[in-house]
Amino acid sequence: GHTPKSGELDASKLTIELADPNARQVPDEATACSGTETICTDHMITCTWKVSSGWEAPALKPYGPLSLMPTASVLHYATECFEGLKCFRGFDGKLRLFRPNLNANRMLMSTLRISLPGFNPEELEKLIAKLVEVDGPKWLSKSRPGSFLYLRPAMIGTQPQLGVQAPKEALLFITASFMPRMDAPAGGMKLHTSPEDQVRAWVGGFGYAKVGANYGPSLLATNEARARGFGQILWLYGPNGECTEAGASNFFILWRAKETGKLQLVTAPLDDRLILDGVTRRSCVELARERLAGELEVVERKYTIDEVLEADKEGRIVEAFAAGTAFFICPVSLIHHRGVEVQIPMGKTGESGMYTAKIKGWLKDIMYGNEQHPWGPVV
Ligand code: PMP
Repeated sequence: GHTPKSGELDASKLTIELADPNARQVPDEATACSGTETICTDHMITCTWKVSSGWEAPALKPYGPLSLMPTASVLHYATECFEGLKCFRGFDGKLRLFRPNLNANRMLMSTLRISLPGFNPEELEKLIAKLVEVDGPKWLSKSRPGSFLYLRPAMIGTQPQLGVQAPKEALLFITASFMPRMDAPAGGMKLHTSPEDQVRAWVGGFGYAKVGANYGPSLLATNEARARGFGQILWLYGPNGECTEAGASNFFILWRAKETGKLQLVTAPLDDRLILDGVTRRSCVELARERLAGELEVVERKYTIDEVLEADKEGRIVEAFAAGTAFFICPVSLIHHRGVEVQIPMGKTGESGMYTAKIKGWLKDIMYGNEQHPWGPVV
């Protein structure tokens, strides 16, 4: 409802320079995901900002390198934040996003946390939709329902000055790219708890923001765990080892409560701002509360690795899964914590427990248009 003023981000001012449509062929999925470079679509959107004049007109143009001075703020002080969401080719042939308003709002929150310029999230949402409108028809063929592209909006501080200060120039950009299918690894995801001397986030920190500075430092632990055959780190926090997130995903555990024996779907809370407010997490919480109300209780609370170990000893763990845009809903089959292994049941099929499969199915149906739902707007 808000009409952008001069200097505000304004999707209606988008300029369009189209790439030669024959210059690049769409690779098949396997090829697209096998190399060491992310394959992006024909176009990207960029938009520059200066403190003196605000946002300029955004531009849709052929995908290609950015130009930055070596003194640009982002290259020294990590003035960078980003988002990740997908565009789906539905089984009804339509292109859909999934709750893009939540990503746009979260991007604004992250942006402000690192002193980059604000914007109206609705305008960002319109720009994301525009990129999908232009590149979706070619890159997500109607003959391949069930496929998707990964959309990556990002913002960086570009001011070429080494003084440590809020950047006076910034660049917003959006790309669309291939990403491997979201099938869970055979046998489920194996988690290794974080090393005793490393934390991902802390109270008073910025773990709740999707800033690049949260990710680089997490790679050391992830690489070591990978070398030992685990998929992701289960990040613990504090002297009691509170379970927070699994890699770049939120983490859910379904167990029978110690006191009552009732089924509880438990996940870490948002209130101390240690974890990302994941769109998938929120959607799981909301769907489970709405559709599984009679069967289980959804609990957002602090819980420790010792509670998980105890639940395992007492045979109360029912299912566990990681939830995020990249891995979607991924059943967890094992948690390794300081020499102790917790095996988690993978259901009758050996692929996933019943509740994990139900939640995943509902989300998929919304994403691919099998269920018409306000969370899955058509582009
Ligand atoms: N936690 C972290 C640290 C992440 O980077 C992500 C991916 N954005 C998630 C959780 C999952 O969030 P979402 O469901 O919005 O992708």
